[in-house]
Amino acid sequence: MNAPVSNSIAAMIPELTEWRRDFHRHPELGYDVPRTARLVAERLRGFGFDAVIEGVGKTGVLGLLHGADGPAAGAEKRVLFRADMDALPIHEATGAEYASSAQGRMHACGHDGHTTMLLGAARRLAETREFDGTLVFCFQPAEEGEAGAQAMIDDGMLERFPVKGAYAVHNWPGVPVGAFGVVRGPAMAATGKFHITVEGVGGHAAFPHLSRDPIVAAAAIVMAAQTIVSRVVDPLDPAVVSITAIHGGEAFNVIPNRVEMKCNIRCFSDAVGETIEKELRRICADTAAALGARVTVETGAGIPYPPTVNHHAETEIALEAMRAVAGPRNVRDDVRPVMGAEDFAFVLRQVPGAYIFVGNGDSAMLHNPQYDFSDAALPYGVAYWVELARRVLPA
Ligand SMILES: [Zn+2]
Ligand SMILES: [Zn+2]
Repeated sequence: MNAPVSNSIAAMIPELTEWRRDFHRHPELGYDVPRTARLVAERLRGFGFDAVIEGVGKTGVLGLLHGADGPAAGAEKRVLFRADMDALPIHEATGAEYASSAQGRMHACGHDGHTTMLLGAARRLAETREFDGTLVFCFQPAEEGEAGAQAMIDDGMLERFPVKGAYAVHNWPGVPVGAFGVVRGPAMAATGKFHITVEGVGGHAAFPHLSRDPIVAAAAIVMAAQTIVSRVVDPLDPAVVSITAIHGGEAFNVIPNRVEMKCNIRCFSDAVGETIEKELRRICADTAAALGARVTVETGAGIPYPPTVNHHAETEIALEAMRAVAGPRNVRDDVRPVMGAEDFAFVLRQVPGAYIFVGNGDSAMLHNPQYDFSDAALPYGVAYWVELARRVLPA
């Protein structure tokens, strides 16, 4: 059974649903989120926020809300709440009447719901102001692989508004609506990208002795790379090394000059990430050399995401808020870490905090064209934020 939410939040459900479906119908990608950011800023101003700052980290929005006794005197009375605004380059297949109006773009990760839940909490908290200090509402662009959180940090977000803690919510398919979960400690993986180029000497397929075959060298590198996780990384440290692309050659009778590959790595600590990268570079160099080929390993475009690590004290506060909203039986504190990456990691590097999951029910998985955020989860997300505000900045 789902716990009931308060009447004041239940009364917001029709409006929250309307906002969520409007965001869903108009998905925007990466940093290019003008409509979403404008609507967020307009609404925050409409709720009576004390300050609304647009264009942070290109297109992020910050809203400041002071408690009943006025602004925070310092970081100890200031806390950051984050939502993400961007969608994905996926063609929607839900058939919903509010489905994406843009070809090849959809809210397949539920960021439409995250933005709506934080807006709902913004509205409610602006009415009550039952907290002591200042809440910094952060609506970030470019969560999906483009490090929008880091862009907002680089733009001075945490220097202008130092905070004692930072919190974020992500929906999770398979967790019942009205239930919550959190991973203690490392929650989401670090990720790294590498381009591997193997160069040999091309030639006629009939005369392999006159060439240096980069395809054989590339194949040997692919196989040797499998030993990084199985033979090098501590078996108690989760890690993934995937070769995700391999391109070389065209004709039946030609040995090509080069092969290009892509490699994606995942792990839960900087130390393991460094070990994997060092070993990958060594395997590439030594294997290519053994076969008379040359190799270059280049880091892929963009900033690698660090692991998302929940902090102990802040996780406990988040758990108290979740239990207050959903009842203790609907809150799990033993969720297993996820190999996906999350750019709230950049915030949690600077500030202690917690990243938690709100149940999305029996939906398709994230990033699937059939996925949809569950509107029934909206009031639970709003209730969590409102409860959390009361607990992190008690009046
Ligand atoms: Zn996503
Ligand atoms: Zn997401």
